[in-house]
Amino acid sequence: MLMLMKTKDELEKDEKYRRTDMYAENFLPHGKYKKDNGDIIELMDNDLHIEFNGKMRQLIAVYDAKGILDACPICDAPSEDGSFVVMTDTHMLYPCWGCDKLIERERNEDIRKEDYV
Ligand SMILES: [Zn+2]
Repeated sequence: MLMLMKTKDELEKDEKYRRTDMYAENFLPHGKYKKDNGDIIELMDNDLHIEFNGKMRQLIAVYDAKGILDACPICDAPSEDGSFVVMTDTHMLYPCWGCDKLIERERNEDIRKEDYV
């Protein structure tokens, strides 16, 4: 999945967004993210856009997955401590460390297991 990233420092220097592929394993507990170069950043501290339905969507919030979904709708792994859901202006993204997938839904839909049966 494609992400456009501009870190805090790059924002100050007015640099261009960098394109990067992202995978569930790049997302680390409690809203952190491991960049390709190994640096670990706080998702919310940076200017990030995630591709969804062919458009780039701005990341606006990170929420604890607990209370939003109890288990992964694909592999059934229970939400781990520190697991979280990323919200953009139009959708939500759940990086599952059980099946290593990025699960996406429109924000007006719930992430529920029934949707996948
Ligand atoms: Zn899963």
